[in-house]
Amino acid sequence: MAQRCPGELTGRVALVTGSTDGIGLAVARNLASQGCAIMLNGFGDPEAIASLCNEFATKYAVSVGHAGADLRQEDEASDLVKQVVHQFGQLDILVNNAGTQHKGPIEEHPPSRWREVLALNLDAPFHLIRTALPGMRANNWGRIVNIASVYGLAGGVDRSSYVASKHGLIGLTKAVALETATSPITCNAVCPGDVSTRIFYRSAKLLADQEQITRVEAQQRIAAINMPSGRVVSPEQVAALAVFLCSEAAAEIHGAALPVDGAWLAR
Ligand code: NAD
Repeated sequence: MAQRCPGELTGRVALVTGSTDGIGLAVARNLASQGCAIMLNGFGDPEAIASLCNEFATKYAVSVGHAGADLRQEDEASDLVKQVVHQFGQLDILVNNAGTQHKGPIEEHPPSRWREVLALNLDAPFHLIRTALPGMRANNWGRIVNIASVYGLAGGVDRSSYVASKHGLIGLTKAVALETATSPITCNAVCPGDVSTRIFYRSAKLLADQEQITRVEAQQRIAAINMPSGRVVSPEQVAALAVFLCSEAAAEIHGAALPVDGAWLAR
């Protein structure tokens, strides 16, 4: 099996959706460290985004752009691929990461929020994949990585739209993997458990203040709720798996839904 070496992805162009923060930013940083040109996407303070682009250009010496497309909108999702190709000449790696969720029982789930969750978590990957694939086929190479969730493989209480969208995303992953199986294009999903993004640290701080415990104790308590490991996964650990799926070593992995979940799904 070929070993992934630094710079293996030099010359490739990647679009990572929802990459101004969290898991998406970790994936974009890892891809850039492998030599990929990067189109960032996501919301945020314009100055912070400009300094992020500057960081990519100086630290990794790669071409970088940012597109603020709101991927809940069908036309913005479809146009994003055209924008990447216009700016960088091609699109080799598509990481569908942007996602949202709504918590609450299904009887109280506003239909408008259901539409929004499905639009971002499932419709956007559909539109991005269908517009990116012709170029990948023409270049005879491509990697599609969908950031799903453990909730794409198992149910969960009070998150019906999230569970439905992530199960749908894994179904889409398998369907696209079969349609591309004979070509050097792969499509796979990564299924994280609880990840230490900004929201996790905010929740831990809140719990620490409420219970008069240390932040570390609060983090451990939150992690222990779902994760048999007792630890949350870091964004960098999710990113490492996503980027491995982009390597030549992963060329024959098609349609997989790989957990990074501290044994959540092993129970
Ligand atoms: P985050 O909230 O930290 O970051 C989300 C990113 O998406 C940001 O860059 C934001 O600006 C962008 N975004 C939000 N709405 C958007 C829109 N309409 N159009 C374009 N971009 C938009 O998210 P995260 O926690 O890093 O999660 C990333 C992915 O990983 C999601 O698909 C999520 O479902 C999945 N996931 C997260 C966890 C976790 O514990 N954080 C666990 C399992 C799966």
